[in-house]
Amino acid sequence: MIQLHDKTFVPFISAQEIDSAIQSLAQQVEAEFGQEIPVFIGVLNGSFMVVSDFMKHYQKPCELSFIKMASYQGTTSTDVVKQLIGINQDLSGRSVVIIEDIVDTGNTLVELKELFKAQNIKELKIATLFFKPEAYKKDIKIDYIGISIPNKFIVGYGLDYDELGRNLPEVYQLNE
Ligand code: 5GP
Ligand code: MG
Repeated sequence: MIQLHDKTFVPFISAQEIDSAIQSLAQQVEAEFGQEIPVFIGVLNGSFMVVSDFMKHYQKPCELSFIKMASYQGTTSTDVVKQLIGINQDLSGRSVVIIEDIVDTGNTLVELKELFKAQNIKELKIATLFFKPEAYKKDIKIDYIGISIPNKFIVGYGLDYDELGRNLPEVYQLNE
């Protein structure tokens, strides 16, 4: 068991399980794009570890950029999603894959889709390491899902509880 601020967390998903899930995501995306060079867009802060490991498993030419969004306060998602760092790259005619650490309510995805609508993108796909099916309230298709999890708050592997816990190499679940 570990403690972050006022809460305790118990081990939930091992580093090895995470790595297998990411390897599988990378292989699925690789198979889909053939010789085309996709642009991966990592969603900061949470996705930095996923993106890094995903890129290491992706064995064909690819490009990378980051966008920064924030919607969480403490352990609950808020409805207001803010864009803190935007994309400054020309994405017209490109195939773009958004790489998320976790999809919860889907509010962030809606905002992301909206942001990319104005750009003349060829196709926009969504990949996420973790997905909470019970919390998901939108009808946007998620193209690649690593691991589906129950509707509980998790930390580690990039995911934080009020900024702590991002450095943990495995994932922990809130102890309730
Ligand atoms: P959504 O907009 O889908 O509700 O939430 C997406 C964002 O909220 C994620 O990219 C992540 O930053 C944060 N988030 C959602 N669920 C969790 C969770 O269980 N733990 C942590 N630490 N962050 C989460
Ligand atoms: Mg995120």
